[in-house]
Amino acid sequence: MAARPSPYLEGLNPEQRKAVETIDGPVLMLAGAGTGKTKALTTRIVHMLNTGKARPNEILAVTFTNKAAREMKNRVGHLLGQPAEGMPWLGTFHSICVKLLRRHAELVGLKSNFTILDTDDQLRLLKQLVQAAGIDDKRWPARALAGVIDNWKNRAWTPDNLPAAEAGAYDGKGPALYRQYQARLIELNAVDFGDLLLHVVSIFQTHDDVLAQYQRWFRFIMVDEYQDTNVAQYLWLRLLAAGHKNICCVGDDDQSIYGWRGAEVGNILRFEADFPGAAVIRLEQNYRSTPHILAAASSVISGNQGRLGKELWTEAETGEKVRLIGHWDGEEEARWIGEEVDAMQGGTRGLRGFSLDDMAILVRASHQMRAFEDRFLTIGMPYRVIGGPRFYERMEIRDAMAYFRLVTSPADDLAFERIVNTPKRGLGDKAQQKIQMTARANGVPLIEGARILLAEKGLGGKGAIELGKLIEGLDRWASLTQGELRRVALDADSVVEDGGEIERVEYGPPEMTHVELAETILDESGYTGMWQNDKTPEAPGRLENLKELVKALEQFENLQGFLEHVSLIMDNEAGEDGEKISIMTLHAAKGLEFPVVFLPGWEDGLFPSQRSMDESGQRGVEEERRLAYVGITRAEEVCTISFAGNRRVYGQWQSQMPSRFIDELPEDHVEVLTPPGLYGGGYGAAGMNSTLETRVAEANVYNSPGWRRLQTRSAERPTSQPREASKTVIDLQAVSAHSMGERVFHQKFGYGLIIGIEGDKLEIDFEKAGAKKVVARFITGTDD
Ligand code: ATP
Ligand code: MG
Repeated sequence: MAARPSPYLEGLNPEQRKAVETIDGPVLMLAGAGTGKTKALTTRIVHMLNTGKARPNEILAVTFTNKAAREMKNRVGHLLGQPAEGMPWLGTFHSICVKLLRRHAELVGLKSNFTILDTDDQLRLLKQLVQAAGIDDKRWPARALAGVIDNWKNRAWTPDNLPAAEAGAYDGKGPALYRQYQARLIELNAVDFGDLLLHVVSIFQTHDDVLAQYQRWFRFIMVDEYQDTNVAQYLWLRLLAAGHKNICCVGDDDQSIYGWRGAEVGNILRFEADFPGAAVIRLEQNYRSTPHILAAASSVISGNQGRLGKELWTEAETGEKVRLIGHWDGEEEARWIGEEVDAMQGGTRGLRGFSLDDMAILVRASHQMRAFEDRFLTIGMPYRVIGGPRFYERMEIRDAMAYFRLVTSPADDLAFERIVNTPKRGLGDKAQQKIQMTARANGVPLIEGARILLAEKGLGGKGAIELGKLIEGLDRWASLTQGELRRVALDADSVVEDGGEIERVEYGPPEMTHVELAETILDESGYTGMWQNDKTPEAPGRLENLKELVKALEQFENLQGFLEHVSLIMDNEAGEDGEKISIMTLHAAKGLEFPVVFLPGWEDGLFPSQRSMDESGQRGVEEERRLAYVGITRAEEVCTISFAGNRRVYGQWQSQMPSRFIDELPEDHVEVLTPPGLYGGGYGAAGMNSTLETRVAEANVYNSPGWRRLQTRSAERPTSQPREASKTVIDLQAVSAHSMGERVFHQKFGYGLIIGIEGDKLEIDFEKAGAKKVVARFITGTDD
């Protein structure tokens, strides 16, 4: 029988075609990045629909993110030549499980209109249970319990099948509290995120009839990014596929990057054992990237042990080498990338012109986005943040900003509402209503209403004490901002003369700068502490974001100026369409591709992250290396890796070492770009307007082992002469009375280390006062 011509099959390579046409029985497509796994999977769906092999509702297709699900729907629609309607079971694990659970809620004691709790609700509930159990939640925060329980759910452990080894969790009370929590959720007719899968798995395990029904129903199962499934997801798939075994999983062991969330790359390796006789298809031709980019990615990932090992090749033209560049600090890195993006639109360095939609910046940690967002807003470059809120929209940033707003304008009721009970101060809905009513009755802002309420003793207990402390704190912090303004006017002798112009130095009040004030507010209010005690996986990221917020403040004269900047930013952004550059984390970039990719912040401690390096053994760093592989392989034509020699953390300079992954790049495929400033380039170091400090920093950077290696490689290149740069610096240091790293004493700020030299101006990291720029003549050397 002659098959209908199927244009969508043309252009597939033989292996892809095999994956598309092998419809019955288990199929594992195991292949490196950009080899067309997702394309083959999508085409497979189209092929099944087109040949009448399956109806749309018989196909269960699971993707990792909503974005991926949307894209797959679009691609199917495109290949079918009509919108992919009636594919009800194409989505993420969670979205599919919600539907299933609504149908069978009663089997686990829920009603079909159950609510899905968000993290806040979940925490509130756990906190109640922790308190009821008489546990000191200072020592054993409810958040820690939330993390433990999430983790158990990822592993499909219910209170009934929790392994004995977990008995000691959360001071030995974890298992009992887990049981209570699950019972309470049922009473409330609610589920948390982890329950969505867990309940469905339980139903399948205990109700053969229900399972059999879905096994018949989902005649064909397909899973993208299989390497990142956790145990609960794996069980769910295995149960559904157990009958007909028509399951097709695609993945890449080298791209397994969710180990921290309970994903087990072992699942992919076990596939053949679980489904004997599986057709295993390997794809080796990469259709995404140039040979240089592929070589760089392959070289980095080859540092990992125990890989399945795959060779990738491509027919693409040689193209650009991977570009590598080091900067003085993070701000300069952002500035350079901004300029580069701008230049690339018109075509630069012999490259074709790219649109903003073609370009992406992929960061390791979300707090890195702030520098780019600020920079792009400053130069009016449209951008979008994918996979999460933009920096200033994040919960912890909004909370912190609400504190700052209240300090500068106490009548800001929205800010007051936001933080009055964050962290928890025992001021629940009732107490807040009382404050509202008192304020309204007196026609005053909430903070004044609260004052009146306290004076009238209209509030009692812990709430009253804590509210008193909060108001007292707000008053104190507000008085410190006023001190700041006076101080700057009085502080005549610390004015620095710069090329004839008078430049005011932000010394702030004797006791505190606005940056220190911001830290004080976050500390004394208990806000920072709230996240420090938080044991959920997101907490460290939130703390990083808070640090980053404080860092952003340094570029402004005072809190007020900063708040104005942010409100302008937020205003600016309302919805406009058009081309935009994308900013996202490496995790969010999985499965995506862009002609131009920037990979900033390749520094040990940032990437690989400090946590992964602290972890014993190689596991942590190996997962980071896979992330590096994911990052590089997102690029089609131009891939630029960069790092900074210094980063500022809490007002302190920290010098950074280039990432060990930079050492692992293959020299023949990398071009080292000359940093700006080194040879009369246009940009000075952030806030310093100097090329000298840039050079010092660069010299430091170049002295790292990674750079030395790259230097020798590119020694013959006329444009790249880092060795000379360090020589210049040494000469300049010889004529200066002070040297980098020297410990000195300043009349006003005490002891500190020199971290920058610019003529007679020194950047000093003071032990008490933090980093400041001062005039050399106010400095005396010390003996140590
Ligand atoms: P990742 O591991 O990053 O998810 P992948 O293996 O899923 O990658 P795809 O995203 O499916 O790869 O494909 C990468 C690119 O190659 C896409 O732009 C896709 O359209 C293209 N491509 C895939 N197969 C072919 C082919 N046979 N001919 C031409 N282009 C192809
Ligand atoms: Mg893919």
